[in-house]
Amino acid sequence: MPMSLHQRALTLDATDPLAPLRAEFLFPRAPDGSDALYFAGNSLGLQPRRAREYVLAELDDWARLGVEGHVHGRHPWLPYHELVTEPMAHLVGALPSEVVVMNTLTVNLHLLLVSFYRPTRERYRIVIEGGAFPSDRYAVASQARLHGFDPHDAIVTLEPRPGEDLLRTEDIVSSLERLGSSVAVVLLGQVSYLTGQAFDVPAIGAAARSIGARFGLDLAHGAGNLRLSLHDDDVDFACWCSYKYLNSGPGSLGGAFVHARHLGDPSMPRLEGWWGHDKATRFQMPRTFVPIPTAEAWQLSNPPILPLAALRASLELFDRAGPLALRQKSVALTALLEEVLAPHAARAQVLTPRERDARGCQLSMRVTSGARAVVERLGARGVIADAREPDVVRLAPVPLYTRFADLTALGDVLSHVL
Ligand SMILES: *Cc1c(COP(=O)(O)O)cnc(C)c1O
Repeated sequence: MPMSLHQRALTLDATDPLAPLRAEFLFPRAPDGSDALYFAGNSLGLQPRRAREYVLAELDDWARLGVEGHVHGRHPWLPYHELVTEPMAHLVGALPSEVVVMNTLTVNLHLLLVSFYRPTRERYRIVIEGGAFPSDRYAVASQARLHGFDPHDAIVTLEPRPGEDLLRTEDIVSSLERLGSSVAVVLLGQVSYLTGQAFDVPAIGAAARSIGARFGLDLAHGAGNLRLSLHDDDVDFACWCSYKYLNSGPGSLGGAFVHARHLGDPSMPRLEGWWGHDKATRFQMPRTFVPIPTAEAWQLSNPPILPLAALRASLELFDRAGPLALRQKSVALTALLEEVLAPHAARAQVLTPRERDARGCQLSMRVTSGARAVVERLGARGVIADAREPDVVRLAPVPLYTRFADLTALGDVLSHVL
């Protein structure tokens, strides 16, 4: 590694206003006992130090109060999920009324498709990326079957041009124009889990609307990574998880967004449960469901408090960092990572777009020697990255806890490993 790059990294760290946040996270150990170089926050975010404290506080209240904790806990459990609504809405650019934290990602995707995928014989198709995450693909195919359609016909996948890895906006738009009024829903992963490509939400959303389709986003790799503006971009619905960039722990809760223009619409079908019922009368146990006039109407059950407690610890750190500073650091980290990877291009070619607005923090590279083997060799040298079979290695320099010097250290390791 040329000295100048490393010197530059040290200078960037010394002047980084977000540098103190790193100490708020717990790092896995490298084989030599030092902190691992952690680039897998796009798969599972690190544990915020305060997560333990917040979870223990709820275990203590449960021990002390039993059922009374619902009302008399330090943070009463009945409205506990409301503590995360506003910070979460901030992160995705939504009104608090448009967001609810509940369930997990794929469950929320199904619940939202129940409302937004209302196929007719003419308008029944769901458009997704060919490289969509398998769970999303299974979800839309099963929804199509549920309505009596053949997924081979009803699910249309957007594919890159031959020899290319990324989808071009103009191709997506022209595909939608071609499919026209047969499309019921357009669903995209924002950002692509595999290539790290961030799609042009306003342009694709406008194209979806112009053909009369609903527009939904899977933000598994977008929430906590990119600055999002779901409300202003007029997205119809979105879902995400909180265990990747949002650091709330393995299997933790997901989020859901429903645009304000759909809230309170009595014609909108929905799967319903008691936690979506009007809070004022919920415990009068009425027979008739009266929906909360927010995205909370989609809640079915009373939520698990322990993962919500862990999520609070993480969201406080996002608030402390501020979205603008976080994105600025993210852009700078990824630019430096690109420089670090450049000398290795022959054995590890970056697939992710070069334009900053077309990606988040993650860079994906196609390796010539087997992704799994590369990730294992990285691990032996204290670098935690992630492999997607057969040949993609993903590296996510998460701005909350990555140092610039971690990237030049990664460069040294890559020289040995590739
Ligand atoms: C991680 C991820 C999921 C995972 O779904 P769960 O329901 O949380 O298990 C789904 N879709 C995408 C695009 C993902 O990246």
